[in-house]
This record gives sequence, C-alpha cells and structure tokens, in this order.
Amino acid sequence: MSFYALTALINAITSTVLGLFVYFKNKSAKTNQAFALFCLSTTVWSYAYCFWQLSNNADSALFWSRVLMAGAIFITISYFYFVLRLLNKINKGKKILIFGFLAFSFFFLANFTSLFVEGVRPKSGFAFWPDTGVLFHPFILIWFFYAFYAIYLLFKSYFVSTGIKRNQIRYILIGTVIGYLGGATNYLLWYDIPIPPIGNWTTTFYLGIVAYAIVKYELMDIRVFAAHILIIALNLIAFAYIFISKTFGEYIIKTLFFLGVLFVSYLLKRSFDQEVKQEQELKRLARKLEKANRKLKQLDRAKSEFISIASHQLRTPLSAIKGFVSLLLEGSYGEVNKKAKEALKKISTSNERLIVLVNDLLNLSRIEAGKMQYDFDYWQIEDIVQEIKDTLLLEAKEKGLYLKVNFPSPPLPKIRIDGAKIKEVISNLVENAVKYTKQGGVKVGFKQKENLIRIIVSDTGIGISRDEMVRLFSKFSRGKNISRLDANGAGLGLFVGRKIVEAHGGRIWAESEDKGKGSRFIVEIPINLDELKKEKKRRKIQSKGVKKFVEEI
Ligand code: ADP
Repeated sequence: MSFYALTALINAITSTVLGLFVYFKNKSAKTNQAFALFCLSTTVWSYAYCFWQLSNNADSALFWSRVLMAGAIFITISYFYFVLRLLNKINKGKKILIFGFLAFSFFFLANFTSLFVEGVRPKSGFAFWPDTGVLFHPFILIWFFYAFYAIYLLFKSYFVSTGIKRNQIRYILIGTVIGYLGGATNYLLWYDIPIPPIGNWTTTFYLGIVAYAIVKYELMDIRVFAAHILIIALNLIAFAYIFISKTFGEYIIKTLFFLGVLFVSYLLKRSFDQEVKQEQELKRLARKLEKANRKLKQLDRAKSEFISIASHQLRTPLSAIKGFVSLLLEGSYGEVNKKAKEALKKISTSNERLIVLVNDLLNLSRIEAGKMQYDFDYWQIEDIVQEIKDTLLLEAKEKGLYLKVNFPSPPLPKIRIDGAKIKEVISNLVENAVKYTKQGGVKVGFKQKENLIRIIVSDTGIGISRDEMVRLFSKFSRGKNISRLDANGAGLGLFVGRKIVEAHGGRIWAESEDKGKGSRFIVEIPINLDELKKEKKRRKIQSKGVKKFVEEI
C-alpha cells in the first residue's frame, strides 16, 4: 500500500469514527449533526481516495476519482454549515448556505461527466491523476470561497468570545487552517503544479482537533472514547484489508479474520457498555447523594439556628430563677422553714443542671456556626482547679467519694488560655468523674512536659468500653445505659470540651482499661500557643536550612 493510500485510509477511519462519536455523543445537538455531515463528506472522499490510489487500471482510477470528488465537493459547504451552527449564526448565513448547497449539488451532478473530471493520466509519479474539466475551475473558486468564509467567521467570533467558547474556537481555528493547508495540496497536481499531495494526512489531525473541541466541554469519558475508537479502527482496518487481497484464498482468510475481530469487538463493547452503565448509575447516585447532603446541611443549619435562639431565650428565665432562689435561701424575703429550704435546694440543683445544659447547647451552636469567641489571658491553672474542687467537693462527699487534687510544687508556669472556657472543660471532667463513680473517688493531677501542660482527671468509676471510647467525644454521645446513672446529661460536655481544647492548640483524650476499671481524662494545652507556633515555624525554617545546606554540600 502506498503512502497516499495509507494516509487516505487513516483519514477515512478517523472521519468515520469521529463523525459517529460526535453524533452519538449528543444526537439532538445541531452542531454535532452538522459535524457528522461534514465527516460524511470527508469519509466518502477518503475511502474513495484510498481505492483510487490502489486502482491498477485507468477506468477504475477514473471511477474512484469521481467518487472521491463527490465527497470533496461537499467538504467546504458542510464545514461552513457546521461553523454557522457552532457560532449560532444559521439565520444570518442562511441565504449563502442555500446558494452553496445548490451550487455544489450542481457540481456533484457535473462530476459524473467529463465537464468536471476529464480523464486520468500519469503525473509526477502517479499512474492515474485526474485532469480538470471546464466546470472544475468555477468549482474550485467557490470551494475555496466557502473555506475562507468559514475561517473568517471563526476569526471574527474568536475576538469577541470569552471563556470556554473562545477556547473552543481557538482549537477549531488551528485545526481548520492546518487541515485546509494540507488538504489543498491535493489540488496542485490537477493544475500541473508538480507538488504531490504531501499534506493529505493533516485531515486526520484536523478532524481530531475539531471533534475534541466539540466534545471536550461535554466532559466525555476519554477512556471509553479511546476504547471505542480502538475497536472501530481495528474493524475498519481488518475490513479494508479484505480489499487489498490478491488471491481468492487471501480473500477468504481475511474475511474470516475480519469476522473474528468483529466478534471479539462485540464482546468487548458489551462489557464496556456494562461498565459505562454502572458508572452512569454511580454518577446518578452520587448526584442524588449530593442533593440529599445539601438538604441535610440546610436542615442542620436551621436546627442550629433554632437551638441558638431557644437557648438564648431560656437563659434569661434560668438566671432569674437562680437569683431569686439564692435570695430566698439567704432569707432576703423572710425566714424560710427547713422543709421549704430542702425544696429550694432541689430547685437550685435542677436549675444549675439546666443552666449547664443550656450553656452546652449555646456553645454547640456557636461552635457549629464558627462563632465561638475566645478571650485569651495568663492564668494559673492550679487556681482554676482549686475553684472546681471547692464547688464539687460537697457533691462528692454526699456520694461518699473522695475528691483529691495533687498540686505540683513548685507551681506550674502561668498559661495563656481562655480561663472561663478551660474551667468549663475541666469542671465537666471532674463532674463526670463524680457522676460516673459509685465507690472510691476522683483525683486531679498535673504534669509539665516542655511547653505543654497536662491536667489529668482519674476516677475509680464505671470505666469506658472500647465501643464507647470510639465516639466518646462526638456530639450527643452517651454511654450505654448511662441514663440509669444520670438522667440529665445530653452527651455534649465532652464534644464541647474537645472543641475548646483544640481551639487552644491542645488535645483531650480518655484512657480506660475497660468497663468497671475506672477512667482517666487527660487535657493537654500549650503554655503559650503563639509561642508554640513561633517555635514550630523556627524549627521548620531551621530544618529547611539544614536540608538545603546538606543538599549543597
Ligand atoms: P454527659 O455526661 O452529659 O452524658 P459528656 O459529653 O460529658 O455528656 O459525656 C459523654 C459520655 O461519656 C457520658 O454519657 C458517659 O457515658 C461517658 N463518660 C464521661 N465521663 C466518664 C467517666 N468519668 N467515666 C465513665 N464514663 C464517662
């Protein structure tokens, strides 16, 4: 097979594949239809071109050169139509388009007479090159007119378009110019200019780039596309090979080979289609999930807003109750008898619990809205723990538990924290330890490790199972059957605590051997977060410097 026959075959295969691909990618899109039409012209031209090159007598060469011209005649007009569709200018170019189709239809009819192609004769190493008939000259003028007009329209739109469209037009312009320059080398020998059609192969490039530009923005699956192209190309090559057989036996063998390729391709295609179907189903599900997720987020936001508003509304009456109950207990409204005092104390305890719950809910909504505010200052952590002990000692004693604090000596350095918030965190840990311990008691210890301080709350209580440990610090997470021990918790304290500690650049975690074996809660906070950050940065720069130094030597 000669170089020209081979390039024509490649052009033919590419235009068939790309034409079909673009068409089936979006059958109802007018631009895709127009491109398929254009590919039809190039396909007819290219296949016939290949057979013309393979012809071994003048009659067959003349026949195939007329067929190839039948395709070539419609190339620029169908391309012009494609450009009008692409640029949405079909109404503006309608008249000129109709004129073109009529003119080229006329040349199409003339093509089968000697007025268009006179005959074939040897030229520049080609055994059968066609000669022009009289009608060929006006044809070539009109043909180039439509090619240039399409390029002109593309250029014009390129300068006024933006974004994706501009990119698309750029690709198409590059492809078109290269394709026409290369394709036009076919006409030189018709006019006895001794230059062979060296640019014929550029058609493949041209079609490829235009097809790419059309579908690129439709997000095609390149893997599936490549697989399909391969299958179709294999079949076309196997099919084309049948026609270059010399003996009957060769015909039979090649036909059988082609049928074999066809069968294997069918199996491959089936499995591809299944995969594509599954992928599409997955994409559909992913979209559905995304939608559901958006809705859930909306609901979550609404819920957070509701909690925030409700908690604010609840806080005022709770504070009023707290104030009046303590005034009553102090005897500001006259002497209160013992029985009433007991009742008032119960009211006060319940009210305190409610205040903690409302505070947790408020903190939760602030954390979720990213609106938690911190007021950093220097605090002596032992003082905070002392205050917590003072508040909770009575409760522990009433339960028959000890509550010990091992104060360090010498005292720890002051740490930069939001004292009120860290107090909330440790207070919740100690309160929990008292709540979830039946015998024994609670110990609070301290540790300093370089620029980190640890506060450790350990108890001899019910312990934590492995399952519970996993979600211990999550929102609304409470232990199994824990309501029996304490009906008032909401499972928010540890979650809020974790968020607060993390905002201080620290960590919080729990340790427990198992249920019934007591627990340890450890809060680790940097002495000065800003200093820690600076130190980390310094070390990073230092290690980078060392690395660079090592690299240099
Ligand atoms: P609440 O105590 O209101 O339920 P928390 O977030 O403070 O909320 O605690 C979450 C859960 O962690 C508790 O319900 C309990 O199951 C478990 N827990 C917390 N502290 C301890 C502890 N010291 N011993 C055993 N379990 C604990």
